Amino acid sequence: MLPGMSPRQRSRLFQEVNDRIYDLLASADSDLPGEFLCECGRDCDQRVPLLPAAFVTLRESGGLVRSPNCRRSRFRRDSEAPAAGGIPALG
Ligand SMILES: [Zn+2]
Repeated sequence: MLPGMSPRQRSRLFQEVNDRIYDLLASADSDLPGEFLCECGRDCDQRVPLLPAAFVTLRESGGLVRSPNCRRSRFRRDSEAPAAGGIPALG
């Protein structure tokens, strides 16, 4: 998606983008989840549906937004990843 960027640069950029997304959500209807970008830093192109409140909690704890796919121990390029719009239940 953004070739030539290091994972750290990408993660930082996506954090800034997510902050903007949060601002938009917070100024609109904070009860609706928004699609945040996965901040794992890899070129995963995952979207993570999160409520604004959940995003704030994550930021306050110093955490990164991560897709469930990217939370797994190893990254796999998975074209059958669940579509954004719901967080898949974990076994
Ligand atoms: Zn990711």
